Amino acid sequence: MSTKFPIERFGEASTPFYYYDMELLDQTLAKIKQSTSRYGFNVHYAMKANANPAILRRICEAGLGADTVSGGEIAAALKAGFKAQDIVFAGVGKTDAEILLGLREGIGCFNVESVQELEIIEQLAIEEGVTARVALRINPNIDAHTHHYITTGLEENKFGLDMSVVPDMIRRCMQSQALEFVGLHFHIGSQITTLEPYRLLCERINAMQDDLERQGVTSIKSINVGGGLGIDYDDPDKHPIADFEPYFALFHDNLKLRDGQQLHFELGRAVVAQCGSLITRVIYVKEGIGKRFAIVDAGMTDLIRPALYQAHHKIENLTGNGRELRQYDVVGPICESSDVFGHDEMLPEVRRGDLLALRSAGAYGEVMASRYNLRNLPGFMA
Ligand SMILES: *Cc1c(COP(=O)(O)O)cnc(C)c1O
Repeated sequence: MSTKFPIERFGEASTPFYYYDMELLDQTLAKIKQSTSRYGFNVHYAMKANANPAILRRICEAGLGADTVSGGEIAAALKAGFKAQDIVFAGVGKTDAEILLGLREGIGCFNVESVQELEIIEQLAIEEGVTARVALRINPNIDAHTHHYITTGLEENKFGLDMSVVPDMIRRCMQSQALEFVGLHFHIGSQITTLEPYRLLCERINAMQDDLERQGVTSIKSINVGGGLGIDYDDPDKHPIADFEPYFALFHDNLKLRDGQQLHFELGRAVVAQCGSLITRVIYVKEGIGKRFAIVDAGMTDLIRPALYQAHHKIENLTGNGRELRQYDVVGPICESSDVFGHDEMLPEVRRGDLLALRSAGAYGEVMASRYNLRNLPGFMA
């Protein structure tokens, strides 16, 4: 099941480029379908993880919905074949133009993150003569114990609504001709590698539902618990597919869904990370003082996670099979000291022209590429 690189096809391609193992993506999607159909859960794919059209099409064909965070993503989702009703739209700063796009296309749901946003959505829906389906994104104040740049469910984060304003907002939706209240939305962070934060989230939601019922709110059709399920960056071949079954089972066992209530998930990373690798060519091997550098043609502009989140992607020398192991700092060509993919990496001897793979790069890789230093954007092969 782990990725076999078609190196014979890599020869002609210009590097760096993303290689996507579509077979692994299909197997991952099959695993997700297997668990979610057992429990009757729905998954929206969080498009911001990877919006490559080939990947989107495959995910759409597998029957997932789309979780979007911009007008551009809504447009790309529609183009890839997702039905408008299967698209949800989240984000703290939706512009009027983006809201109008969502209203005119008739998307499934706006995940609302502030009182003022709800007012603007209502006003624009009235002007358009349509009804906006809305869910309220609640900040559950749960520490997901992940990198502080990717935690989202704490009170200090900019995301979501404080529970104290939620009952009034629900009442406002009920009274409005232009708003239809759909449910509650949560998302506590990303690359979460233990299930404990999710168990806490279930407890928090159970308590909230009890509380809302005491206040007379009984019309919550859907609960959306966001995404964040982590993957194994250290050993992608050992865990090519995330542990979906225990994750979904935990919600089945711990969340007290009311009669007829739908449970939604928004997974990004866990769907696409392991199927992608950034393929790069070694330009130079440089002997430094007490260091040996493998200088590659990919940089932080192609894969920014190491520079942005201190993340580490497993590095493989695809052409060095059988050579003796040596130690390298693997660095890119960009004029920034943070442009480093790995320190003290043990790799089969690296020579000019070798192809290296930066593994587990299918999520938050290609989609975050930039043209800094006026470099070309990386290509892809599927
Ligand atoms: C980013 C994001 C997700 C997906 O997170 P992953 O860690 O990639 O699963 C889901 N929901 C919302 C609201 C997000 O912003």
